[in-house]
Amino acid sequence: MIPFDNTYARLPARFFDLSQPKRVFAPELVMLNEELAGELRIDPAWLRSAEGVAVLAGNEVPAGAEPLSQAYAGHQFGGWVPQLGDGRAILLGEVVDLKGQRRDIQLKGSGRTAFSRRGDGRATLGSTVREYLVSEAMTALGVPSTRALAVIATGENVPRPELHPGGIFTRVAASHIRVGTFQYLFGKQDKDGIRALADYAIGRHYPEVSTLEGPERYLEFFRRVCTAQATLIARWMHLGFIHGVMNTDNMTISGETIDYGPCAFMEAFHPDTVFSSIDRGGRYAWRNQPGIAQWNLARLGETLAPLVDDHMDTALKRMDETLAGFEETFGEAFINGFGIKLGLDEMNDSARGHLNATLRLMAENKVDFTLFFRHLTRLAGGELDDQGFATALGQPPGITAWTSSWHQTAGPVSKERLQLMRERNPIFIPRNHRVEQAIQAAEAGDYAPFRRFAKAWNSPYAEQSEHADLELPAKPHEAVCETFCGT
Ligand code: AMP
Ligand code: MG
Repeated sequence: MIPFDNTYARLPARFFDLSQPKRVFAPELVMLNEELAGELRIDPAWLRSAEGVAVLAGNEVPAGAEPLSQAYAGHQFGGWVPQLGDGRAILLGEVVDLKGQRRDIQLKGSGRTAFSRRGDGRATLGSTVREYLVSEAMTALGVPSTRALAVIATGENVPRPELHPGGIFTRVAASHIRVGTFQYLFGKQDKDGIRALADYAIGRHYPEVSTLEGPERYLEFFRRVCTAQATLIARWMHLGFIHGVMNTDNMTISGETIDYGPCAFMEAFHPDTVFSSIDRGGRYAWRNQPGIAQWNLARLGETLAPLVDDHMDTALKRMDETLAGFEETFGEAFINGFGIKLGLDEMNDSARGHLNATLRLMAENKVDFTLFFRHLTRLAGGELDDQGFATALGQPPGITAWTSSWHQTAGPVSKERLQLMRERNPIFIPRNHRVEQAIQAAEAGDYAPFRRFAKAWNSPYAEQSEHADLELPAKPHEAVCETFCGT
């Protein structure tokens, strides 16, 4: 049983299409997130039963579900698409979790909907493995993210263009409202719809804002979304995470990371790094992410402007002033987060200079981003001396001078600061070649690597000697230089 309590289905009918999941041939439960099931007040034993698996596969619609696919639009790589929508996802409904938070339960890969365009509505098993691993790792790393409840192998093949085994992913999210959801209504000049959606999103994600009335209400809502996104993008960047497709339809109002397609964690550091095969211009490179987020938020601001002032010029000016706060919030979060990673006390001018020098050293020498901070934590904790630190990093030129500059800037690292370093410098991240390995194995019917990596990445800040091999970057022949939407 799933304790559904649906609200999106009560919104105006033009916000969605009532779609049913389509049956699959021979569903098999590949992975279940029992802890998350518990949080959602769903019995994991029931989810494992024939009835539960039928629900996760979309072969049966559970009691209380009101399946629908959401309408949204979006700017994809800067180009406007007035209608996208859930082309292969169905919202079964919502539950209120143990903490009182409302959560969406969505099936992804569950067949065609009114929004499928030319797509088949299906997902490869590989893409569901990727989303499971990366979204759960992000959560364990402390980054707001949609969650993974289950992966089903469908027993059917999907052409991409060569045949891949199919999968269905159960996604759990604070909501699936995107910048593109607002844009969809804006494109139709549906001011009443925008107001209804904004009020709904405020009630769900920023309830404190509900007490405000008039223009202030929507300005404050916009400000909160900008803050949530600014801190989110900073957290990504502290981990070397590159989302890969930061289109406006892949950016949530809740501030959760969503849609793990051609995403990747960078190994050798360079700010211009891009992985996605479809990102030819480097639009969504690591360093461009804050600028793109701000651009996307400007698009959100435009949709809310009609609620702020009848004169569009005045309204847009107020949205712009609000959006200007993004830069400051992001900048502070970015610098302070790196300060913590470096074990620095206060981000004064010399500390900022040291941060720049650090990023330069890493970029010039293609130092592994995660290992650099992991070994620096060991240096700060006395587990390594300067020589050991340099050796662990492979003796990059300039490391000796960098290390003495770090000692000078950081001084002796207090217990508290060391603790913070340990909480922000992961030992394990989903390295791309490992994700690839789990995908390949799963598509060949071997789920062992998927399960092992999920377990290791669930405790990314803890020493796990049995998983020491997962700490290491790809060897040259294993390196993944490009990621594909692989949907
Ligand atoms: P994405 O690139 O995953 O963010 O998806 C962009 C749009 O394409 C969304 O509207 C998706 O629902 C749609 N889409 C992606 N893959 C498929 C598919 N296999 N069948 C139908 N629609 C799809
Ligand atoms: Mg998407």
